[in-house]
Amino acid sequence: MHPFTYTRVSDTREALNAGRRGGRYLAGGTTLVDLMRETVERPEALVDISGLPLGEVTVTERGGLRIGALVTMSEAAAHPKVRTLYPVISEALELSASAQLRNMATIGGNIMQRTRCTYFRDVTAACNKRQPGSGCAAREGVNRTHAILGTSDACVATHPSDVAVAFAALEASVHLLGPDGERRIAFADFLLRPGSTPQREQALRHGELITAVEIPALPRPLKSGYLKVRDRQSYEFALTSAAVALHVRGGLIREARVAAGGVGTVPWKLPAVERHLVGERPSGALWTAAAARAAEGAHPLQHNRFKVELLKRTVERQLRVVGGTR
Ligand code: SF4
Repeated sequence: MHPFTYTRVSDTREALNAGRRGGRYLAGGTTLVDLMRETVERPEALVDISGLPLGEVTVTERGGLRIGALVTMSEAAAHPKVRTLYPVISEALELSASAQLRNMATIGGNIMQRTRCTYFRDVTAACNKRQPGSGCAAREGVNRTHAILGTSDACVATHPSDVAVAFAALEASVHLLGPDGERRIAFADFLLRPGSTPQREQALRHGELITAVEIPALPRPLKSGYLKVRDRQSYEFALTSAAVALHVRGGLIREARVAAGGVGTVPWKLPAVERHLVGERPSGALWTAAAARAAEGAHPLQHNRFKVELLKRTVERQLRVVGGTR
């Protein structure tokens, strides 16, 4: 492991000062420490923020939810408000990682986690994300698990988070605190597509700290849920996944929020599917027709063509589960 300094901070001002000097924030450490062991990440200074007061889940004035950045995945998944208002978040968290990891990993860390592309984690392989300008071994290599949406010539890696897919579907926002004060950014703008700079993954400014993720209030009743399709039933990343939330009133779908995971370089919102649903009466035929639009714009690679059909079927199945009509 590369040598580094370690500082534990107890208030946000101290954290921001250390962040401004170039320190990397450390919370649960479940991704960063792994990557440091593999020498993929070589921070000079770690700033342990696990003692900051960012571990609360609260209901906002408008009836949405604010999940503190240091709430662990287990705490968020089990929280009564999360379970009742947005089951899609609980389900996405419970289908992630392992129980041990969920007890350590935080919500802020989860959305910051880095790709599972095997070439990224192999320091002998060409990888533009790890070493800009070195190439992308996955493009011509084994790319079965890689992205089919949002890719670029520089990088085709998927974003690994499940709960980020739920956040994208629900149109969450991310609260940030930095040297210039507080700001809030739409979740859709927080995670960046690779373009020509795949090493830049989030729209964070120098020294900024995530303080919370906020889920907006949505019309009630709202049914929601998360489906994850993977090679094995435990401790595995998604080949495809679907986060769905529907508000049905008077027999018609009034609001639809749909996003997919395992297929995009970022959690992939599906506006064409949502538009197809809104104003319609739930039916099996509607789910099939809407899900047929899920893979629009896909560019599969040599080994992941199967994801195009699998994505449509995943979305269709979860629409049936949440929408309740077979
Ligand atoms: Fe690196 Fe991205 Fe290519 Fe994987 S897909 S090798 S992360 S550049």
